[in-house]
Amino acid sequence: MAERSDDRRRFRPSRPRGGERREERDGGRDGKSDRMTRRHGEERVEVPFEGAMAAATREDRSAEGGARGDRIRFSRSPEPLPDLAVSFLPERSGLHLVARRIASAACAFPLFQIAAFFLNQPDHLSVRLSPTPPASNSENENGSEEERTDSDQSENNPPVRQAQSPLPPPVLFQCQICKQVYQDRGRVSAHVFQQHFDRWYRKEEQEVEPPSGHFSSVARCPFSGELLGPPNHHAFEERLLYLHRTRFSHLSLEEYRRRLENVRDPALIEEWRKMASRKTRYFVVAASEEQSPLESIEKVERHFQEHYLADSIRGGTALTIPGPVAHALDDPALRRLVQEAWRRAMRFPLPLSITLRLMFRHMGLHIFKTEDGTHYVTAIMPSPLDPEGTAPAVREILEFLAAHPRATRSDLLGALRAGEEPDSPGVRELTAQLHWLREKGHVIEFTGGAFILPGSAIRRVQPAHPEERRENRRPKAAGERRRREG
Ligand SMILES: [Zn+2]
Repeated sequence: MAERSDDRRRFRPSRPRGGERREERDGGRDGKSDRMTRRHGEERVEVPFEGAMAAATREDRSAEGGARGDRIRFSRSPEPLPDLAVSFLPERSGLHLVARRIASAACAFPLFQIAAFFLNQPDHLSVRLSPTPPASNSENENGSEEERTDSDQSENNPPVRQAQSPLPPPVLFQCQICKQVYQDRGRVSAHVFQQHFDRWYRKEEQEVEPPSGHFSSVARCPFSGELLGPPNHHAFEERLLYLHRTRFSHLSLEEYRRRLENVRDPALIEEWRKMASRKTRYFVVAASEEQSPLESIEKVERHFQEHYLADSIRGGTALTIPGPVAHALDDPALRRLVQEAWRRAMRFPLPLSITLRLMFRHMGLHIFKTEDGTHYVTAIMPSPLDPEGTAPAVREILEFLAAHPRATRSDLLGALRAGEEPDSPGVRELTAQLHWLREKGHVIEFTGGAFILPGSAIRRVQPAHPEERRENRRPKAAGERRRREG
């Protein structure tokens, strides 16, 4: 099955499409085998590191007299999605930004709205890939937030579950430079070598004497079209071994050798001769001036493996990826996994909203749930006030809101101060008392401007964590907070 063309596009979380693509998860097994990996039945066999490396070296090959624009391609058919949980974690910077806004607005914000904000802003988000948890705490995707409490959650995020598997969790590999993640070591190594080559090496092209002597034929790789040179040329054997090792090791060396085409076309012989007259030398950036260059890409590769590879990648069963990178992963299966999870989260951001609850409470903000099951975050602790014995204007407001939940300021003024000028003493007093009630948490204002009383309209309040509440009703500037989770 060919990969759908729209899967190649960058995912745009702000415009989630229908997204019912689960059929693809199991699709593609019959597709063409990836050249980097091959399958024996369902078993995946990894080609050694060098095999993947070839992708990195294709430009160099042509410079050295080898390839003719051939490319190692990753599979175009979708691999099965890896058995990994995907969770979305707000970045601290974005979280502080939002917390400050909540504190300054003195309004109650719906958590889903804030979760959606983060999902639309990859810059303020991290994506964590981790083993799927063994228990089947599957998401209540259709329901409300009813049954979920903070105690259900680890300090991290409730992961979006994928299918369960008795197999050990897949190991992932991450480039430590740009944070791209791959499912196998060969790919991440090739990525690092290819994408970050210039950090370590500098290339220099050089014209050399073309090979002399009479050559009646050149050997050509039947798979890549690469010219290996005349079999009696001294560089032939090295090239053959290199190509076999890096790209065609699924064949035996003898088999590969046997498959080579011996071409007697003078034009091709001349083409090879031209290629062989250009030489690329490689200098190690960190080495001293006197150090002699590396004469071939094979030597650079070995040098890279010995000196730089280990520090450039990290392996693990759980890895965190910055949002912008996770948004455009190179690894096709991981990309689809994250995109699907992203779409699901956009449709129903409960897991992220639960994470936000925890984080906001650690930032001195309070969470409450209204009768319809919606969770809100606010900087002001809801605090019901008995109208008995309060000032007349206060009592008027409380009684009106008790009778008209979700009334707005203009509803209130229209009903209680009908016909009065905006700056009349009556209106001014009512406005001032409303402001005071709101500041004290005796009335709650929502972001849309509606007011409720914090009594019966609220089903549950989860106050900020105690140590965050000590001195303040409103959190201090969120940025001043000391580091916590993570
Ligand atoms: Zn990288």
